Amino acid sequence: MEKCDVLIIGGGPSGSLAASKLLKNGFSVIILEKLDFPRFVIGESLLPRCNEILENNELFEVIEQQKYMTKGGAIFVNEKNEEQVIDFSKNLGQKWGTSFQVKREEFDNVLLQNSKKMGADVRHGYEVIAYDNEKNQLKAKNNNGNIEEFEAKFILDASGYGRVLPKLLDLDIPSDLRLRNAIFTRVKGERRREKDFEGFIDIVIHDNNKAWLWVIPFSDGTTSCGIVCEEDYFKKTGLSQADFWDKVINEHVYLKEKFKNAEKIVPVGIIGGYSAAIKKMYGKGYALSGNATEFLDPVFSSGVTLALESSNKVAELIIKELNGEKVNWQNDYEDYMMIGINVFREFVYAWYEGKLQKIFYSKNKSDIIKNSISSILSGYVWDENNYFVKDTKRKIEALVAMSN
Ligand SMILES: Cc1cc2nc3c(=O)[nH]c(=O)nc-3n(C[C@H](O)[C@H](O)[C@H](O)COP(=O)(O)OP(=O)(O)OC[C@H]3O[C@@H](n4cnc5c(N)ncnc54)[C@H](O)[C@@H]3O)c2cc1C
Repeated sequence: MEKCDVLIIGGGPSGSLAASKLLKNGFSVIILEKLDFPRFVIGESLLPRCNEILENNELFEVIEQQKYMTKGGAIFVNEKNEEQVIDFSKNLGQKWGTSFQVKREEFDNVLLQNSKKMGADVRHGYEVIAYDNEKNQLKAKNNNGNIEEFEAKFILDASGYGRVLPKLLDLDIPSDLRLRNAIFTRVKGERRREKDFEGFIDIVIHDNNKAWLWVIPFSDGTTSCGIVCEEDYFKKTGLSQADFWDKVINEHVYLKEKFKNAEKIVPVGIIGGYSAAIKKMYGKGYALSGNATEFLDPVFSSGVTLALESSNKVAELIIKELNGEKVNWQNDYEDYMMIGINVFREFVYAWYEGKLQKIFYSKNKSDIIKNSISSILSGYVWDENNYFVKDTKRKIEALVAMSN
């Protein structure tokens, strides 16, 4: 039986950030990671709030050195090729007005290697398969098929889509978002935007809002592009995922031209059923962070931001608890996280109901509303000075009614 202060399941951004904070505070950390790194994971577009969390944890420089593409904002493009630019620098006074577009296999590996350098005991090829909550012990199967046992004062589940503790402790609840698929690939040779906008993400509206696409440019000249739609919308075409991707690109006036000379450099992949919700984010001796908690939807690129925000917060509270202080997990962790998650949730609902598009494309928005939208889409969803942070749904409805 191996022992440590904190055992972390999963070496994604959520696990790595928590590890570095815990190590800095003198705690021993083992990270059990199922896969060898670098490994592919979807989710390549970050928000300015990520920069702030990385900076607060002295991790920004490590990321800055990688020379990733700077992301200045998002450009929404509709079927008529009409654009609406969200410029992250026009926010509500927050310091960070840019972020990065990253290949996650690289970004996640940089953060994990950094945790290793700081002293984390990182074990690749260890899949956590059992958890004894009474003793706070875990069993993991390694690549050789052997079962090894671990015991920790605290266990953090940062297993992302693996959802290890939600499955083992029956914490999952079905998401109320519809079942959607993402069908994606990477290309080279597409027409890039002009210099000032080169790093912006395109969010492209297709077929009267039945699908939307992301276009994420990387600094090595390659680009990620994926289609998100309800499962039936894809299935009823009877096409393979590769042919469906081609069809949608060729149907859209903007994408057809943009991808005219593009060549796919990886096979077209598909992922579905990714939205997830949770009964509880914590329990005696354990907590969940990142995608192991709640994952909404990719449309506003909020996943890594919420993963970093939650692991930053959770690590702070684990440190307190292990130092013998009383922690109010409900108030200081779950309720706190739900404030931000619920703001994004209302934006996601309003997006799929077509309401947000009405606001984005409306001509009579005041500067304060524009900046408030930019600030939310930058990940500043805890800023109570932002019009949208309280009563989000009602305020979106009010703006829709005023939009033309
Ligand atoms: C279609 C789509 C597009 C997206 N686009 C974006 C985007 O543009 N921007 C954005 O910010 N987010 C995006 N996301 C969300 C993003 O993918 C996640 O929010 C992010 O990866 C969460 O990070 P994490 O550290 O919680 O988990 P992960 O990055 O998933 O890391 C979890 C780690 O745990 C390991 N693991 C799993 N099970 C076990 C086990 N049993 N034992 C040991 N280890 C295990 C995994 O191998 C993995 O390395 C997107 C999601 C989808 C579905």
